[in-house]
Amino acid sequence: MEKAMQPRTDDDAVVEAVMMARVVMKEAKRVLVITGAGISTESGVPTFRGPDGYWRNRYYSDLANPAAFAEHPALVWEWYCERRKTVAACKPNDAHTALAEWTRKREGVTLVTQNVDGLHERAGHPDVTALHGSLWRNRCTACGVEREENALDYEELPTSPCCGELERPAIVWFDESIPRDLVVRSVEAVQMADTVLVVGTSGVVMPAAAFVAGARKNGATVIEVNPHISSIPAHIKVCAPATLFLPVILT
Ligand SMILES: [Zn+2]
Repeated sequence: MEKAMQPRTDDDAVVEAVMMARVVMKEAKRVLVITGAGISTESGVPTFRGPDGYWRNRYYSDLANPAAFAEHPALVWEWYCERRKTVAACKPNDAHTALAEWTRKREGVTLVTQNVDGLHERAGHPDVTALHGSLWRNRCTACGVEREENALDYEELPTSPCCGELERPAIVWFDESIPRDLVVRSVEAVQMADTVLVVGTSGVVMPAAAFVAGARKNGATVIEVNPHISSIPAHIKVCAPATLFLPVILT
C-alpha cells in the first residue's frame, strides 16, 4: 500500500476503503488509535471551535488559560461546569463502544485522544491516554495531585482534599504543555505501531499530527475514519461517519 488513496465521497469508495481497513485491522499487532473531536461530535458534544467557541461573549481560548483562571477562577469554573453539564447529557456513541470492545479483546493497543469529554471511559475503554486532560478531574493548585470529580455545580470554589487549596480543572490549557508521561507513552506507541487508526481529527492539532507522521515514517499503515477531508497522510481513507463504519472495520 504505497500510494495514499484519494478521498472520494461515492459509496463504492467508502465500501472499498472499509473492507481494506477491516483486513488491515485484523492483521494488526501493535495499534495506535488517535481520536479527536470528530468522534464525539456524533454524540452531540460541541467542538468549542468557531461559533460554538463563545460563552458569554468570551472566546474559549480567553477562558482556557492559566492567566484567566488566576484572574477569574469563579468565571472559569462556571464555564467548565457548563461544559460538564453539556457532556453529561451526551452518551458514548457506537464508535466509542466499538473501539472499547475491540480494545478489551486484545493487547498492544494504545488509545491517545485529544478529547477531554471522558466518553471513551464511559464507553468502557480500558486505557485512555487523554493528552489534553479531562473535564472530569480536578487538580490541586498547590501540589498538582488530581482527583476524579463529577460535580456539575459549585456553591464555593472547589478545594483539594490533599492541601485544602484551590482546585483547577485538570485540562491542558493554552500556554501549557502536555504532561511528560503522556508524551512518553504516546511516543512509545508511535515507535511500536504497525498500524495507526485515526478517527475524527483534522490532522492539524499537534502533537497528534506528528504522531501520525512519525508512525507512518516508521512503516506503519495509517487508516483514517473521518467524514471530512483532512490533511492526515493516510494510506486508507474512510470518508464517512465513524459511528456507522468503525463497528464494521473492527469486526
Ligand atoms: Zn494538594
